[in-house]
Amino acid sequence: MSVATRGRKATTSQAQPSPPTLSLVVPMFNESANVDHLFTRLTEVLDGLDVSWEIVCVDDGSRDDTVARTVEHHRRDPRIKIVELSRNFGKELALTAGLRHTAGRAVVMIDADLQHPPEAIAEMLAKWREGFEMVIAVRRDRETESALKRVNAQAFYWLFSRISEVTLPRGAGDFRLLDRKVVDVLNAMPEHTRFMKGLYAWVGFKQCNIPYDVAPRVAGATKFNAFKLWRLALDGITSFTSVPLKVWTVMGFLAAAFALLYGFVFIIKTLILGIDVPGYPSLIVAIMFFSGVQLISLGVIGEYLGRVFSEVKSRPLYVVREAYGFEEDE
Ligand code: UDP
Ligand code: MG
Repeated sequence: MSVATRGRKATTSQAQPSPPTLSLVVPMFNESANVDHLFTRLTEVLDGLDVSWEIVCVDDGSRDDTVARTVEHHRRDPRIKIVELSRNFGKELALTAGLRHTAGRAVVMIDADLQHPPEAIAEMLAKWREGFEMVIAVRRDRETESALKRVNAQAFYWLFSRISEVTLPRGAGDFRLLDRKVVDVLNAMPEHTRFMKGLYAWVGFKQCNIPYDVAPRVAGATKFNAFKLWRLALDGITSFTSVPLKVWTVMGFLAAAFALLYGFVFIIKTLILGIDVPGYPSLIVAIMFFSGVQLISLGVIGEYLGRVFSEVKSRPLYVVREAYGFEEDE
């Protein structure tokens, strides 16, 4: 079986103890300083919930001692499990790996830096028991973020809602509960460009929102710089709409229409006023403008082509270096 499809479901044997009710997926990338705090807080909250649980930590190629410290916790409490990826694959793929290793009837994804308050899980479970298949935690405000990040996020959501086939709820991130049915659908999706927020919206199901306040990061710094966020935004747009490709058809028509009109005006002018030698600056401006437009349109096609290329190569989505706490791996 290929590494990427190695999931709990496919390999679960009869002898295994019954699956837990709740699985948590925690992506971790250089979160060493948060590990102890995280597990203390999570176990405290989860033990108070009166459900059987497991925590599936995904180490996304950390370069610090995140894995070693998490393994210590795993030795003490086997309900804490670890999927160690062979390198940094990015949060979206770390979540994908985590989801594929869960066995719970409900799965909650939560950040390792405790920006998502674990206390909200109780409310999520209550909604889930009411029959909702996806309970989305929506942040009340984005005050913990810089003004620039907020403006960019707003621009992205505005653009995305206008041109894509799915709508993303504002302020909804990866902190959410998914029913096993939803997880199975997500696990069956083969695509490589995994913009999780879009995929959650795409699958549908009965959804509801609960509000939460974002806490400041416990330790360490954010792993998302402007460049990574830009890539994520591009992935989001290119995997959920082809409008950017179509825009160029319209632009082409407009430019051609304008050129025709201009040519017509030029002919009339020549007929009336005779040949007019000046006109050099307008020529240069026109050449530069249309070369720019062509380069941009080539770039847009390139973005899509690059993604098609990565899909057809069909490499595994991620590679597991080591897994701790899953029966089939021991
Ligand atoms: N993360 C990850 N791989 C990455 C980047 C981030 O698994 O390449 C994890 C990170 O360890 C954290 C979560 O994703 O648990 C959210 O990251 P972060 O707090 O840096 O993002 P922010 O809260 O600033 O959006
Ligand atoms: Mg964070």
